[in-house]
Amino acid sequence: MKLLVVGGAGYIGSHMVKMLAQSDHDVIVLDNLSTGFRQSVKYGKLVVGDLADIHLLENLFTEHHFDGVMHFAANSLVGESMILPSKYYRNNVSNTLNLLDVMVRHNIKHFIFSSTAATFGEPEYSPMNELHPQNPINPYGASKLMVEHLLKDYATAYGLNSVCLRYFNACGADPEGEIGELHDPETHLIPLILQAASGRRKSITVFGRDYATADGTCIRDYIHINDLCSAHALALDFIQSGKGKGALAYNLGNGQGFSVQQVIDAVVKVVAADGFSLKIENGERRAGDPAVLVADATQAKTLLGWKPRYPDLETIIQHAWNWEKKQSIP
Ligand code: UDP
Repeated sequence: MKLLVVGGAGYIGSHMVKMLAQSDHDVIVLDNLSTGFRQSVKYGKLVVGDLADIHLLENLFTEHHFDGVMHFAANSLVGESMILPSKYYRNNVSNTLNLLDVMVRHNIKHFIFSSTAATFGEPEYSPMNELHPQNPINPYGASKLMVEHLLKDYATAYGLNSVCLRYFNACGADPEGEIGELHDPETHLIPLILQAASGRRKSITVFGRDYATADGTCIRDYIHINDLCSAHALALDFIQSGKGKGALAYNLGNGQGFSVQQVIDAVVKVVAADGFSLKIENGERRAGDPAVLVADATQAKTLLGWKPRYPDLETIIQHAWNWEKKQSIP
């Protein structure tokens, strides 16, 4: 199949491109390289361009007949979205609309969308299934929810079939060590701890030890990047085979939460095997962090036939550590 992966130079997109290419799909990557990296596109053909450029989109869809589109290109920093909402609504919503409209014009019916747990807002119960109310508390989450809503109308009016996959905490790296997490600035827990271990940063700060959890630190659902990607591949099969129709949405997570302290303990163990250690500091709570965020991924498992292959935290961290060592230790 010929597939377009928008945002294929980013962390999740680049792992997706590799998986699709290894399954013999012909992949075109469209990325503006604003947060992605040219060197992360090791498979497929990279077209550098922006979703705001309607002429570029029109030409791309005229040149290629795509069997499906996966869309990972978005701004995703919650804090930044509070300060710069316009950037988030323009890029995450308006530019996505450009993409959907060119798909409609070219009669392309299969769309996989990278959504987020941030569409839910404050958790009312845990683990969170698809019935959980969606009341986002920041423009990032709101922008993703807007796309979820408009996909429902595009399904009804234009017959566009789509699957939104709502991620909890994406992490880990390509088990073969070819690609991994590259963010600038880096804000995510696991790469930050690993950078503290490799010496790229002097320490890791735990944001709050007074939450209502067993050890007082926040609990999150960490899901290996390749497991996320395999769910996307299955989601595409699901709508392409006709089994899934309309605008669908599933939560993706391991279903098991780990606390910040448990993640640190696992990192300490993994890096100690290579003779590394790290400095841990305690800080204030970070604004907007709920105590527990865990996914109920039953629907993805039963309907898509998805099964995480790397649910073990130490395996996730080992893959991310192998990548971090490549970046930081000559
Ligand atoms: N966290 C932390 N120190 C850091 C970065 C993150 O203690 O330097 C905590 C954060 O408060 C949250 C968890 O680690 O409880 C995961 O945060 P991350 O930013 O990786 O993902 P999020 O859950 O916010 O999407």
